[in-house]
Amino acid sequence: MRITVESKNDALIAYNILEKRIINSGFCTLCGACEAACPTSALHINGEKVNRLHDCSKDLDLCPICYEICPHSEALLLRSLSFVADAPIKNEALGYYRKIVLAQAVDSKLREQSHGGAVVTSLLKYGIETKFFDSAIVSQSEPENPAKPKPSVALVPDDILSAIGSKFFPSSVAKAYGKAVYGHGKTDIAFVGVPCHVLALRKMEAWQHKIIDNLKITIGLFCFGTFSLSSLLEYITKKYKIKPSDIKRLRLSSKFEVQTENDVIQIPLPEIKEHILPSCRTCTDFTSELADISVGGAYPLKDWSTVIIRTKAGEDFFYEAVKNGVINTWVIEQEPKVFERIVVAAMQKRTEALKEAKEMEKVYGYLPVLLLRETDALAHIKIEEIMAKNIKTVPQDMTVSQFLDFVAIHHHIGYPVINEKGEPVGWVTLEEASSVAKKKRDATLVGQIARRKLVVAYPDETALDAFKRMSENETGRVLIFDRENPKKLMGVVTKRDLMHTLTK
Ligand SMILES: Cc1cc2nc3c(=O)[nH]c(=O)nc-3n(C[C@H](O)[C@H](O)[C@H](O)COP(=O)(O)OP(=O)(O)OC[C@H]3O[C@@H](n4cnc5c(N)ncnc54)[C@H](O)[C@@H]3O)c2cc1C
Ligand code: SF4
Ligand code: SF4
Ligand code: SF4
Repeated sequence: MRITVESKNDALIAYNILEKRIINSGFCTLCGACEAACPTSALHINGEKVNRLHDCSKDLDLCPICYEICPHSEALLLRSLSFVADAPIKNEALGYYRKIVLAQAVDSKLREQSHGGAVVTSLLKYGIETKFFDSAIVSQSEPENPAKPKPSVALVPDDILSAIGSKFFPSSVAKAYGKAVYGHGKTDIAFVGVPCHVLALRKMEAWQHKIIDNLKITIGLFCFGTFSLSSLLEYITKKYKIKPSDIKRLRLSSKFEVQTENDVIQIPLPEIKEHILPSCRTCTDFTSELADISVGGAYPLKDWSTVIIRTKAGEDFFYEAVKNGVINTWVIEQEPKVFERIVVAAMQKRTEALKEAKEMEKVYGYLPVLLLRETDALAHIKIEEIMAKNIKTVPQDMTVSQFLDFVAIHHHIGYPVINEKGEPVGWVTLEEASSVAKKKRDATLVGQIARRKLVVAYPDETALDAFKRMSENETGRVLIFDRENPKKLMGVVTKRDLMHTLTK
């Protein structure tokens, strides 16, 4: 591994590290958190770059803020996770949550304009109208370039309605949050952003930055990545002869859809993959795991969104909107395909990001994205203290179709597979099951697709032993057996359990 050596001065003035590791390395996603949080107003996003307006080291001997609160630095990650860690469900792919439901705006006109169920717009409109919050941070479109997000402070329902729909380019929403606090004096702010935006705000919360006291609720969007504005628009202009000002709307489904006044072109996603920002390639969070409420698509259902409710504040607000007739809900357990798609997308994003991160570590000498690293703290915890007991198992003669329905009800990703004597003989996950062709799912048994090699640990070993075994075997979980009776399954430990332990 390459080691990056920073000078003493670099470590004292965070901007030096931020510039070297994040800005100049191309990892910045322009969230604007550093600008909002800087105590000397030294930073300013202009165009597609963070600029330094003056040398803050002339005023300060020490300031760690901008690097620590940047969502792409390794600082404060576990502390940020602790804000959602009291939720009852700990899911390997989707993070902590209380409930997952399908939802849509009752107002069908809003649904037509959005890319999903218009749940975010309906919640924000309801919150402003009922004075649950006094403003909301949204991303409208620049009038002269509709593809370009315009981060804004929404003060009235019309501001919210004009931000409906997804913009697939970076939006400096954390900067707009700073403007809501300092410029508008707002004290109860709703915030909408993609996972790295939400992480930036949680890091400010972990840092106990004074502006975070004004945050009322965070709504996170699911996110596969954002594109570089200049690079993708240049490509579309060159290849498809469409000027940015002619773009009326961009839409993402299985293809990237560019709509103009008279035409719609569909671009296959692999064709524009290289225009995705570098940070997105190592980003492990698909579903905004740190938000109070996360919202994403509900494919294959049209006009519906998937809503993951993570915190008590999120739950109270969401169900108040439901009770007041703004939002319709539907049970996700009745739609196993929706659950399957989200979990598989989240797992794939994480797996690909970790692979990419390992490659990048060789080049850059440090790895900002991992929540979980080998740490001495894990050596002081016994597996028996943290393992999940009474785990659900599945029989090896269960069909893949039955298994997928079972997963949608029980919400875990992986299960031990047992034989007719009740002995564990393998391990099966939703990812493996969903890769079985749809028409073969009724005739394929989980015993046929289960991984036969079990990664094993014992209750008297340490959490660090479990973590090392996961890393050696490139798996996210170990099965815990009784030392005296090697066929007796005692529990399971996942990477999520280890992270949960560390947040405490
Ligand atoms: C870059 C990006 C990638 C996404 N990728 C996926 C994906 O792979 N799978 C998936 O299921 N869902 C994805 N989503 C989420 C999805 O597109 C919808 O935003 C989400 O389902 C909410 O739908 P809605 O109808 O409730 O939102 P709406 O009611 O239409 O409200 C959308 C809200 O999103 C905000 N917003 C729009 N663009 C941005 C932006 N760039 N940054 C911050 N806030 C923004 C607006 O302010 C608006 O308030 C992505 C969203 C974005 C912005
Ligand atoms: S003063 Fe601002 S730019 Fe300088 S290190 Fe602190 S936060 Fe960063
Ligand atoms: S805090 Fe946001 S804007 Fe600042 S460097 Fe990090 S990603 Fe970029
Ligand atoms: S993929 Fe991750 S880093 Fe990229 S925009 Fe989405 S949340 Fe941010």
